[in-house]
Amino acid sequence: MTQIQIIAKNPLWNSRDRYKVHVPETHTYVGEQLSAKGADPVCLSVADEGEFTERKIARKDVLSCKQYRESDPVEVEPERHTWIVDDDIWVIRDNGNWSCSCWGFYFHEKCRHVREYKAKWKDENHG
Ligand SMILES: [Zn+2]
Repeated sequence: MTQIQIIAKNPLWNSRDRYKVHVPETHTYVGEQLSAKGADPVCLSVADEGEFTERKIARKDVLSCKQYRESDPVEVEPERHTWIVDDDIWVIRDNGNWSCSCWGFYFHEKCRHVREYKAKWKDENHG
């Protein structure tokens, strides 16, 4: 289900002086689009909004419209550590996957270097 977010001008904004309560300049609506593309008014389903199940918004009042996501995905920095053990031996921890450049690791996918650094890693900072 694709939800869209519409920011619309509040039709009451122009006559806000007549109200005792605060009249916001814009309203933000999130819902499923019910009307066809380009239709006027734009019709949104707004299931969570009190007594209304849908909301009609005059196209001229629409200030912006975009796809809505609960939370934009957070980019996670890839976690990568490299330890130089020797001139041509280095141990890499790449998002939790350990590897080593030595022949032992190449053939057996384990070696004393990884074992050693794994143990250190655990002791030092990661319980
Ligand atoms: Zn190794």
